[in-house]
Amino acid sequence: MERKEFRELTSVEDARELVDNIRVQPGITVLPIEKAAGHIIAEDILSGLDVPAFNRSVKDGYAVRAKDTYQASEPEPINLKVTGSIPAGCEDSFFVDDGEAIEISTGAPIPDGADAVVMVESTKQTDDSLFVYQPVHINENIMRAGNDIMKGERILRKNTRIGSREIGVLASVGMDKVPVKELVVGIISTGSELIRPGEKLGISKIYDANSYAIAAGIEECGGNPLIYGIVHDDEKLMEETLDRAITECDIVLTSGSTSAGAGDIMYMIIEEKGETLTHGIAIKPGKPVVIGMINNVPTIGLPGNPTSALSIFNEFVAPIIHNSLGVKPSFKTKMTATMGTGIRSGGREELFPVGVVRGRVYPADKTSGAITTLSDADGIIEIRAHTEYIEPGSEVEVTMFGNVRSPDLMLVGGQCPGIDLLEEMTGLMFRTLNTGSSAGFTAISSGTADIACVNMVDADGNYNSSVLKRMNLEDVVLVKGYRREQGLIFKPDNHVYGLEDILKLQIINRNRGSGTRALLDREIGLLAEAKGVSKSEIIKSLKGYNSGSKTHRSVCDAVKSGKADVGFGLRAAAEEAGLEFIPVAEDEFDFVIRKDLMEISEIKDFLEVLRSEDFAKRLPQGISTHETTGSIISSF
Ligand code: AMP
Ligand code: MG
Repeated sequence: MERKEFRELTSVEDARELVDNIRVQPGITVLPIEKAAGHIIAEDILSGLDVPAFNRSVKDGYAVRAKDTYQASEPEPINLKVTGSIPAGCEDSFFVDDGEAIEISTGAPIPDGADAVVMVESTKQTDDSLFVYQPVHINENIMRAGNDIMKGERILRKNTRIGSREIGVLASVGMDKVPVKELVVGIISTGSELIRPGEKLGISKIYDANSYAIAAGIEECGGNPLIYGIVHDDEKLMEETLDRAITECDIVLTSGSTSAGAGDIMYMIIEEKGETLTHGIAIKPGKPVVIGMINNVPTIGLPGNPTSALSIFNEFVAPIIHNSLGVKPSFKTKMTATMGTGIRSGGREELFPVGVVRGRVYPADKTSGAITTLSDADGIIEIRAHTEYIEPGSEVEVTMFGNVRSPDLMLVGGQCPGIDLLEEMTGLMFRTLNTGSSAGFTAISSGTADIACVNMVDADGNYNSSVLKRMNLEDVVLVKGYRREQGLIFKPDNHVYGLEDILKLQIINRNRGSGTRALLDREIGLLAEAKGVSKSEIIKSLKGYNSGSKTHRSVCDAVKSGKADVGFGLRAAAEEAGLEFIPVAEDEFDFVIRKDLMEISEIKDFLEVLRSEDFAKRLPQGISTHETTGSIISSF
């Protein structure tokens, strides 16, 4: 096979037109109604019976002849004789004559002779004597047979997506099975580096995210995913699996191996076995996509990168599935939102992953290659070619990834178990980006964050407000958080007695920009001073100083697994991990909040919980509140 260069890239518009013309004929299968949710109804469903099947009462009360009640009024009730009682489900027959009434329950059959039901609230019964205080007209409080659904009536239309409502309708006409469309979409994930989730991750391996994300996407569209699993980058294996999938599926998707790099051969295999309709679409992420046809089976090679694969799936595969099934996407996939910050683009048509928080859009991590992009993004926006910048405040349309709930508050900065507790206690959904305090300050100044979570110490040992001053931040307040014990974390058998001991051990440090790392730096400075040596010399000799764990928990993991002898972090984290802890310092963990948000309910709830006694009580060991916790300590 001959490797080929990317030819002219297909424009997004042309690619859309191309997929709009691809349709496959789905099969039909009959499913029990318990399993039918999410599938597409294959033919019109007609009712085989009347619903209700008999005249029934819609109220608790008395079955009567309406004309007997016409003279009834509040001051002058009329009097009827009660001759019996009919509960729901009753199969006995009854008759109501002039001057008579029969007690009746909601859902019970109307007795012969009666033509109305008086609500129990309009009556008073003593023994078999009934006073009626309000007249009823003929048919009042009666649902006639077939009133809800008539026999032969179409109750569900072909091509409807089955949800709870549809299942209810089917069950209420007595159907326990339903014919649905069956469109089998196969997924083959290629890559010798892939490992099935749940199995042990070896060196230089990554978990296969695409098989499962794409399968869920297929289900959301109403299709039937068929996962072929992982296929290594081996031409023969790839060909064999593809051959099998082509005979078994209506549509085949592959992921990975579509670029023009060494070892990327999927596009060549598709080309050889069938016809390539396009290779390479002028968008980002996900340029290397192949759309082909093998034996009349649409075969689409998705890029390997999970964000790209999902974007391309949503953009170019979902329409094929929808069109083939004859459905429109049912859930609200698009929403209009406002740019929270500006986005710079390369001037090329781009599908840009974004997060959406309370209708505000901000860019998700731009480096396509990180799985965090996928987990932090709620959807994508389409940036047109030649657009170089989208202004903050401008309106954009976001195509959501499936039916996602977007978070209520965006917190950026330092990581802390206290934040998890705040999320639990407020009942809000947070998006927390653990980027460290420095990035928290940056995010609040650029307007990306609603709240920056910060624990940044300066050379004089002051926390947070000095940084805000130095950064000239405006229109924000600093809200007091709590103090946390920070110190050395190690396994019980490691002999650590104080900060000085880290000089001879392998350490695990936090990421640059983390407040905890800055605190360790400061403590090392103090130690250097006490010893009369230079701080930089100590740092240079520290083994592992340049490491950069992103969370307290991952520091503990490194210590537990023996990758490092000692780490620096929270007592709370050490205790949770069952590790030893020696306190070195206390830090101040505070919250910077945008002033314009102080009145929104989400922030009010956040502050209310932060100030509460219950929150103070539930904080883990080594974290404690102040008198001022939850109040504004400075305003900028
Ligand atoms: P490829 O298109 O094969 O060059 O893959 C592009 C990137 O996506 C590489 O970093 C792959 O390791 C990664 N990747 C490929 N397939 C998957 C998958 N199924 N799940 C997660 N990552 C993948
Ligand atoms: Mg690959």
